[in-house]
Amino acid sequence: MQEAKDITIIGAGPTGLFAAFYAGMRGASHRLIDNLDQVGGQLTALYPEKYIFDVAGFPKILAKDLVKALAEQGLQWKPPVHLAEKVVGLRRGEENGKPLFTIVTDKDEYPGRTVLIAGGIGAFTPRKLPLKDVDQWNDKGLHDRVLNPKAFAGKRILIVGGGDSAFDWAVNLQGIAKSIVMIHRRDGFRAHQATVDQVQAFAAAGKMELRTFWELKEIGGSSRIERVTIFNNKTKAEETLAMDCVIPQLGFISSLGAIADWGLEIEKGDIKVTQTMETNIPGIYAAGDITTYPGKLKLIATGFSEACIAVNQIAHFLNPAAKVMPGHSSNMALFGQKDD
Ligand SMILES: Cc1cc2nc3c(=O)[nH]c(=O)nc-3n(C[C@H](O)[C@H](O)[C@H](O)COP(=O)(O)OP(=O)(O)OC[C@H]3O[C@@H](n4cnc5c(N)ncnc54)[C@H](O)[C@@H]3O)c2cc1C
Repeated sequence: MQEAKDITIIGAGPTGLFAAFYAGMRGASHRLIDNLDQVGGQLTALYPEKYIFDVAGFPKILAKDLVKALAEQGLQWKPPVHLAEKVVGLRRGEENGKPLFTIVTDKDEYPGRTVLIAGGIGAFTPRKLPLKDVDQWNDKGLHDRVLNPKAFAGKRILIVGGGDSAFDWAVNLQGIAKSIVMIHRRDGFRAHQATVDQVQAFAAAGKMELRTFWELKEIGGSSRIERVTIFNNKTKAEETLAMDCVIPQLGFISSLGAIADWGLEIEKGDIKVTQTMETNIPGIYAAGDITTYPGKLKLIATGFSEACIAVNQIAHFLNPAAKVMPGHSSNMALFGQKDD
């Protein structure tokens, strides 16, 4: 059992990282817990190499660079960050007549005076290809995430899927991969139309193949992927293609997991919060993609704002004499400024 902190932040995505910044600014002891082995949430796990255009102050920034900046700012107070730990339970108790929440992970137990759930879309894992023994190809050419595009230099690639990630990688791996074949089980796409247009233009120019109504039947090879067999789900025709890598982009399965059983009010998989980011359990707050309220937008920018609101409310909850309004950072002695 670890020492009690003022705030246990579940999730080290953009919302959790910015919450950590505010926690330190408010002088609240805190820790972060995340299921992933790196900070950054969806940005790190799902689209580190994509540009983001709608974060204030950055006309254009790679997701991984935004995470780097968020970590530099958010973790400047050096809180403990417990990565690769999944939150699996909550025990409610009391400390000096006030609530004490012990967060139980698959590795340890963390008591805290309040909890801020910044769990995004929940603990998530990429959806697997529906093929028997598909895991045998992990690290042998099967990549459900693209963390480093350069790893695909000179490779023959099969992309499976029809959503944003599949189309984005078909575009972003142009000029890097030796060849790209993209298959999708139908002819409707869930991706942004501009990216679909781009991919269709690449295909028309012979720079890649885009095949609709084709699915993956089998992956073959000895120590690595060497070939794939695909089939047309309308004509039942089959083809075997020489291939080095398969990139399934079939979305991801996310789940609130144990958090859903804590007695929180949940609506369509999201935690209901008030405008002060309080849940129905006093002392438990939520912010970011995991929350819902009228007008909610699931965006990085809104997560930042909600983290700020939640932590300042928590500061007041922990010490009713403390104002909710934190003051202006530009005036704070904490940051070496004079007019505190
Ligand atoms: C492909 C793609 C592109 C996007 N592009 C943009 C964009 O351009 N602009 C924009 O504003 N938004 C974009 N988004 C959405 C944006 O990424 C999310 O709004 C943002 O990540 C939400 O941040 P968060 O911190 O609330 O949640 P997340 O980023 O989901 O982080 C939550 C963290 O909580 C952890 N967690 C969850 N449950 C548990 C548990 N039980 N135990 C331990 N840890 C747990 C997860 O592992 C995760 O790391 C995009 C999303 C995707 C998928």
